[in-house]
Amino acid sequence: MRRAFESFLTLTLAIVGLSCQAQEPGFDPDANKGQADTMMTSLTMKLCGQGMPMLESRGIWLSWHDYSGPEDKTLALLDKIKELKLNTVYVCTNMRGYNVYPDSKFLPQWPDIKTSQTDVLKWLVPAIKSRGLRCEAWPEYGFYSYWTPDKESKDMGPTLTKHPDWVAIDKDGNPAHIDKKFGKYYALCAANPQTHKFLIDSFMEQMQRYPFDGLHVDRIRWTNEKFCYCDYCKTAFKKKYGYELTPQLKSEKELADRNEFRCAATASFIKELRKELKRQFPDKTLTAAVAPPEMIEEKGQNWFTWVSDGDVDAVVPMLYRPNITPDLNAIRSKLGNDVPMFVGLANAVGQEKLANQIMQLRAASLPGFTLWVSSDLDKISSGIVEMVLWRDAASPIK
Ligand SMILES: [Zn+2]
Repeated sequence: MRRAFESFLTLTLAIVGLSCQAQEPGFDPDANKGQADTMMTSLTMKLCGQGMPMLESRGIWLSWHDYSGPEDKTLALLDKIKELKLNTVYVCTNMRGYNVYPDSKFLPQWPDIKTSQTDVLKWLVPAIKSRGLRCEAWPEYGFYSYWTPDKESKDMGPTLTKHPDWVAIDKDGNPAHIDKKFGKYYALCAANPQTHKFLIDSFMEQMQRYPFDGLHVDRIRWTNEKFCYCDYCKTAFKKKYGYELTPQLKSEKELADRNEFRCAATASFIKELRKELKRQFPDKTLTAAVAPPEMIEEKGQNWFTWVSDGDVDAVVPMLYRPNITPDLNAIRSKLGNDVPMFVGLANAVGQEKLANQIMQLRAASLPGFTLWVSSDLDKISSGIVEMVLWRDAASPIK
């Protein structure tokens, strides 16, 4: 009996040894499909005594839909987040041109929340922190300024009605982007120094008013490659490059100049924001949700430079897809192996795939992940705790 057990143990350790060696950076989870494989890999990682870092950011974006109802329902959701051994919650603080909290100097309060929760953040932020979770402000709309489902509406929302000269204009002269499925989106020009000051001051107001641990920005980018041809951009572009900014591209150099101009605007915003955040709150962190690598040019959001310049404590590239290997390879080819990123993963890929993706990030020594989104957390069960989250971990940033 004992010999049989020793043989089994020897065989198991041999398999474990091979598996440990196999999990090098670049390891592709798609070669490893199915629950049996997931469970075996999980077991392997447990027996290896590795792959379960004590420091790992495990975040989730908390949608306003999920805290605008009855308080006990929200508290039950926070308990589930804690049970799943996540450790960071990004709380939506603004959306669609409104703040979730009352009496802001910058934006009116979202009407739906006003009727259900007078000052939701007043109890929500302490409730998150009292559970030992890190809590960051997530002003979700960023440079986006307003959304309406009515494609015919001329209403530009609270901010742009007051400051129509701040609106981003596309190459055809339109002040809005119309998405066939979702409706009409207005955005602030991401280059105008006045919009930079407005956003920074409004973000600081959130940090001053509630005890957030950090600021997590989103949509610090252009709507798409058609923007922006506002008066500010035309003047600033001509001053910098010596020729007119026009929708007609005549050369590769013009395209390169345009990309540089758009990326420089968002990079400069991040630098200004960090400086102000650190001036007012030296101990609070700045993280940013960012586009996947292939969208950097379209969005004018070269976040590689934000990381290499040390302007963010971490980035959260949104990789909501079954196979994240090409993205990770693209990022590491630009930034090397030691990248401060908490990769955004989708609950919608399913629990087995998600567990594999988390293991892939660990195998690549990346410091964490962030789940999209609280509204579909029911796609995740306690099974994921058994597979990959069986030990508590603290966030690597404080
Ligand atoms: Zn502009």
